[in-house]
Amino acid sequence: MAEVIKINETTYRIEDGGVRFYVFCGKEKAAVIDTGMNTPDAMEIVKTVTSLPLVLVNTHADPDHISGNGSFDTVYMSPAEEENYREHNGKGDFIPVREGDVIDLGERTLLVIDIPGHTPGSIALLDEKNRVLVSGDSVQNSHIFMFGEKRDLPLFIKSLEHLKEYDGRYDEVYPMHGDFPQKPDLVEKLIEGAGKILEGKAEGTETELFGNKVMLYKFPFAGFLYKE
Ligand SMILES: [Zn+2]
Repeated sequence: MAEVIKINETTYRIEDGGVRFYVFCGKEKAAVIDTGMNTPDAMEIVKTVTSLPLVLVNTHADPDHISGNGSFDTVYMSPAEEENYREHNGKGDFIPVREGDVIDLGERTLLVIDIPGHTPGSIALLDEKNRVLVSGDSVQNSHIFMFGEKRDLPLFIKSLEHLKEYDGRYDEVYPMHGDFPQKPDLVEKLIEGAGKILEGKAEGTETELFGNKVMLYKFPFAGFLYKE
């Protein structure tokens, strides 16, 4: 059963076990950011907290982020993510968003930042007014999935370095997994950790996930599930 938690008067997080999604209300519209893993009723859940017209935005299209997308006609997402979305049976028309695009909710905006690597079209969303960054799965303190097709660890590092160009413009990171919220300095830690893995300087343990043997690299700040 999903739990709705009010962060402040205009912001909510919906927790569903291992994953969460968000509602950011502006003056004219509310953004639903992802729709969770076991919440096909995401739209109904969101309507319990706001009567504003809703727009759906996806940080990326892995199955644990799109379970409630079917209730929406359109979705803001990176065009680089469309293949991943359709492969997971994602419905609705794309409104492609790219680096620098702004989703205007009325006196509250979401600036799109491209951070491919975890998936080809992963994005972060910067709510400049409230100094919050929604990071999807790319900046979080749980296990970051970096194995299998479509994942790219060197690109992930490059994207987080790009994200650092936004340092000073947000005070908190809202991730979809792990502890809520996170501090911006996690970005630098993840860059260092991922770099150590690539250099062969990190110690991992073999683990099995969905029938795949992968390596788990555990750092004090997060873990990476990775396969060369
Ligand atoms: Zn996820």
